[in-house]
Order: sequence, then C-alpha cells, then structure tokens
Amino acid sequence: MRALRMAAIAAALVLGTLLSGSAQAADDSWTSLYAGTPYEGSGWSVCPLPITVSVDARTLKPDARKKAKAALVAALQRWNRPKIVRFEYVGPIPVNFDPATGVTTPTDGVARDRHVYMAVVKAGKAPSRETAVVGLAGPLRVDPATQIILEGSGAFRAQYVEQASRKRVTELFAHELGHVFGLGHSSSEKDVMYPILQGLGDLGSGDIAGAYALLKPCPAPTPAPEPAQPEPVPAG
Ligand SMILES: [Zn+2]
Repeated sequence: MRALRMAAIAAALVLGTLLSGSAQAADDSWTSLYAGTPYEGSGWSVCPLPITVSVDARTLKPDARKKAKAALVAALQRWNRPKIVRFEYVGPIPVNFDPATGVTTPTDGVARDRHVYMAVVKAGKAPSRETAVVGLAGPLRVDPATQIILEGSGAFRAQYVEQASRKRVTELFAHELGHVFGLGHSSSEKDVMYPILQGLGDLGSGDIAGAYALLKPCPAPTPAPEPAQPEPVPAG
C-alpha cells in the first residue's frame, strides 16, 4: 500500500485563562484536522486489532514518568469508552523528535501500521518556542486512496508533564490523541478538542460525534497471490 508520510499538522494546545461566556455544546462543534484540504475527513479504520500507543519518556525522572504513563492510560480510556476504536498502551519505543516539523518518528525507522508514537521532550527541543504550547500531535502517515490514518505522532513538553497535575496531563494527552484521531479544534468549550484546556473530566458530545464521523471501515485483507502453476512435465 502506497502511503504518504506527512508532517504532523500544527495542532498546538494553548494554555490560557478560561474564556467568559458559555459556548453551546453541540454535536457539530467538531472539525476535521484537514479541513479545506484533500485529506479532509481522514480517520482510523475500525479493525479488530487495537491501535497501539508508545511513549518515549526518557527525559522524565521516574516519578514523572509514572505520572505520564498513568495519565496516558487514563486518556486512552476516555477515547476507548465510547467504543470508537480501541487504543492500547504498549510501553516505550524510542523516537526522534524533529522540532522543525513537530513530528516524532521511531529511531529504528520501522513503519508500524496502527501505531501512535508519543514522546516527552525537553525545552529547547520542545514542540514550539512559545512557552504556552505544551503539546503537538497529528497523523503521521495516511493512505491517500482510502484516507485511512495508519500512524500517528505526538510530542509533549517535559516541564509541563513534570509540573502539572495528573488530571491536567490526562486532559492534555486526551486532547492530543484527538488530533492523532484526525480531529481539529472544537468550537465548544465542553469538548476536549477546544483549543484551551478547560479541566474537563471526559470527552464532550462534539468530540464523540466527530470521532464517529471520521471512522473508516476496516479494509478487506489483500488477497494472497494465486499460486504459480507448475510447468507441465511431458510424460514419457
Ligand atoms: Zn490542539
């Protein structure tokens, strides 16, 4: 399958004060990360195998690493609970983070279908020079024929993961997973995909509606090639 490797879309999460006023929580508050491009509507396929997720958290001290893992597992459960797709944490896979593109790729160079590479990176290599940006994530590889996302990547600022509460780190991970899922920012502050962290405990109705809308059917397995016919041997 020919697939396009693409830069993670700048999907920055900006921290700030709560906005005043209340936006309507609506199922149409979600957007596609690729809105206005030929990749609009790209999403993961609903296949029996889970989407595996790894985190390279070597930059963190053991305590913060433990918190990051617990927060990630909790964030994965938020997306798993509505039975949208099944994310499964599989432990660390070493990655390289490219600050120019915001993309993490495995150091072993192996492409893994249905996998998300995440990394916690130190200041200087952090997702953005703007200190307010604490996470960047998006699809890493998309099949242009089917618009099925095959790999994803995410990067998080180490200082934030160390200092923020587990609840806040969970919300950050849940937000960035939404970008990996193909979602752009929501217009409703009741959605985890709202561009500013709200301290939400779960997904909003717009997040769930968007996640369902982006899902693709599981492609049929490629048929095995016909066995070659042996040359007839003349009987003599
Ligand atoms: Zn975002």
